[in-house]
Amino acid sequence: MASSSPALAIRPKAASSPDGAQNLFIFKSADVDITVTYKGSILKGRVSSHALCLASPAWHKFVYPPWSPIADQKEETGPDLQGDSKATIAAIDFKDDNGEALLLLLRVAHLKFADVPSKLSYEQFLNVAILCDEYDCVNLVKPWLSKWFAYKHGAENYGAYQEGDYLFIAWVFGRQKTFNDLAKMMLLDVRVTEENQSECLTHWGAKFSHLIPQGLTENFLKIRSETVTKVLEFYSRILYVSEDQRCLKGLGQCDVIQYGLSARQLDRSRLFDSRGDALRYNGSIHDLGMYIQPYPSPTLHIHRACDRIGVEIQRTVMQIMRAIPHPVLPVHRQHFTKELLRLTE
Ligand SMILES: [Zn+2]
Repeated sequence: MASSSPALAIRPKAASSPDGAQNLFIFKSADVDITVTYKGSILKGRVSSHALCLASPAWHKFVYPPWSPIADQKEETGPDLQGDSKATIAAIDFKDDNGEALLLLLRVAHLKFADVPSKLSYEQFLNVAILCDEYDCVNLVKPWLSKWFAYKHGAENYGAYQEGDYLFIAWVFGRQKTFNDLAKMMLLDVRVTEENQSECLTHWGAKFSHLIPQGLTENFLKIRSETVTKVLEFYSRILYVSEDQRCLKGLGQCDVIQYGLSARQLDRSRLFDSRGDALRYNGSIHDLGMYIQPYPSPTLHIHRACDRIGVEIQRTVMQIMRAIPHPVLPVHRQHFTKELLRLTE
């Protein structure tokens, strides 16, 4: 990950030297050492085990590993009574986590709310989402979510919308409408790899994010393939549609022009071979729907009403597009019904 915009960075209280930055990770009532990676340096810090336990069930397991005797005891007495226990471990390794996002979560966990920024760059937002997902602690940042979402990240990183990282942010933080809208947009724009058409690519040919919830890209591929087949099948019949159309004023010349224009459109589309068989199409549903457009000819300006082929193309393509199923699956919708997430939208 590249470094983020300094204007939006989490404000370091100390100097930017490694020694100063190290103090950022030292909190009050600390009893557990931590190791973190922050701005490219490995730093040592010290945190409160009780703060960690309250903040995240995953961190709770770090502090009281399930195999420890105290954890066994707590299973019996209940989690509310764990506050008096001494942590069973002396150190936690957070080196693999993004340091800035971790610092933000640790500040919330240790009630240092004034140090939590109200704006996050897109990249920081993503890193916080990754850690909240990993440590199951969305509730920790809930009070800041509306502000973070209100900050417009579109111009900052358009690729995030195309590749699915922003979809993941919406997923983690329970923004169902954003998730649904983005999933639909991605479906219409998804391309496939040249070789075997089994991998999704963005409109610009970039790979999809590995953070996209399971099942979604597979569904993109399935729906895309079905829709492309339908559109190509319709396009292959355009000349037959054209044959049935007759000039409203009975001019044979008009019929010939209509047929000729349709044939030329098909030829130019390069979607079919010389025998009329569909070639392999790797582009998006959106692009395919725009492939063959009504093609008004200057000589037809007095016969505009005769352009029924163009009207038929638009009508049928729209019909196919409207019938495209939504790519979000029941398993995804179920995710947003979690109590924790329902409160965030
Ligand atoms: Zn006509």
